[in-house]
Amino acid sequence: MNISQIEHIGVAVENLQESIKYYEEVLGLKCYAVEEVVDQKVKTAFFLVGATKIELLESTSPDGPIGKFIAKKGPGIHHIAFAVNNASEALKLAEERGITLIDKESRKGAEGLDIGFLHPKSIGGVLTELCSTKK
Ligand code: ZN
Repeated sequence: MNISQIEHIGVAVENLQESIKYYEEVLGLKCYAVEEVVDQKVKTAFFLVGATKIELLESTSPDGPIGKFIAKKGPGIHHIAFAVNNASEALKLAEERGITLIDKESRKGAEGLDIGFLHPKSIGGVLTELCSTKK
């Protein structure tokens, strides 16, 4: 699978602007991008912490994946994303190794990354994203 690093940690938040304030004013990090991912019904904000990012996720609709997550579990850590060479190959490999996939094929995520999710039920409850910058 060739995981090179934790690309980012996804955090579900109720209010993006308030959360950005905490990360900037308390932790002293700098939000370098805010982006809406329409098909995932989220607005995202990114912070760089060394080579790893924090991705804040605010739902734009109660029926989106983050809206549902917050309704069920409240705000908090949502997923871990690993950087791989090739997200679609890594998804295939995970499936061959018996893991249930959320995304059978990789798709475009925030920051133009090629991404796909593994189902948390088959991997101990941790929603896991695999992402790569190229196909
Ligand atoms: Zn993510």
